[in-house]
Formats: sequence, structure tokens, C-alpha cells
Amino acid sequence: MFTLADVTQEKVPVIVPISHPSEGSAGRTGLWRVFKPIINTNKCKKCFICWLVCPEESIEEGKDGYPEIDYTYCKGCGVCSDNCPTGAISLVKEEG
Ligand code: SF4
Ligand code: SF4
Repeated sequence: MFTLADVTQEKVPVIVPISHPSEGSAGRTGLWRVFKPIINTNKCKKCFICWLVCPEESIEEGKDGYPEIDYTYCKGCGVCSDNCPTGAISLVKEEG
């Protein structure tokens, strides 16, 4: 059983994402998103908990092995931000 300390100390094995962003029953959720999650790679430990908990499967492995958010399907719910053990994901208000 891993603890939060194990995650932040990078003792947790890396999970390789096997699902990829795709259109769900809510369609292109990015069209009505109010908040947008932004990943700070300086704080990210590549644990992929965000990928695991995202209800829209909007996160996949991106450049240099960091998680990347597909904003076409992200609805800005903030679940990824709430569950990130290092506080690497912040929500900012969408403009326009
Ligand atoms: S953003 Fe947070 S939850 Fe996602 S991989 Fe990085 S540290 Fe883990
Ligand atoms: S805000 Fe919600 S939908 Fe968007 S990436 Fe995070 S968990 Fe997924």
C-alpha cells in the first residue's frame, strides 16, 4: 500500500496510460468549460493519478512523459487538481 509520502518521494511505480482522450456522451466538453486545468511540470512527479481519476479520460502521456490535457474533452471539473498529490494542477478561469 502506497502513501502520499511515497508518491511525493517518487517511490510509486509509474503507470503508463492505456486510454486516450475521446468523445464521451457529453460531446466536446471543452466548448462549455468555465475553468481550465493547467499542469505545472516543475511540480509534477509523473504519478498519473490525474489520468486515473479524470472522468472524461482527457489526460494522456505527453512530451517528456508528463501528463497532457486534451482541452477538447476536458470539462474543467477539477477532479485532477483535487487529487494531484503535489499540487501541480491549478484551475484558471477561461477567458471569453
Ligand atoms: S499532475 Fe499531479 S497527479 Fe498528475 S502526474 Fe503530475 S503529480 Fe501526478
Ligand atoms: S478538469 Fe476534469 S475533465 Fe479536465 S482534465 Fe481535470 S479531471 Fe479531467
